[in-house]
Amino acid sequence: MAVTGDETAEFAAYVSRYMACEQCGTPYVPENVVVVLREDIRWTLLATCPVCDHERHIVAYDCPPYLKLRVMEPVIPARVTQATVDGWRKYLATFDGDVYDLLAE
Ligand SMILES: [Zn+2]
Repeated sequence: MAVTGDETAEFAAYVSRYMACEQCGTPYVPENVVVVLREDIRWTLLATCPVCDHERHIVAYDCPPYLKLRVMEPVIPARVTQATVDGWRKYLATFDGDVYDLLAE
């Protein structure tokens, strides 16, 4: 996905509004922040302090990662039929073990 100038500007504005240099505490301005990598929803930004030149990588997401999870359909168990019961009866008639052995089958 192509990075637009608007998206980059939004992240740079956010970083400059809420973050400051870890070394000297100087707040960033948008011009101090560049996008160095974008992988799907994950952005890696590089902020450079305008006073001490300390560089800091910042990871940001353009939406909550859980929104990208695939929605799973619920598993609907099959109905137990007479044929199922008959099959289990036949199987258990010759089964030699406990419930752990049964579940390990
Ligand atoms: Zn600094």
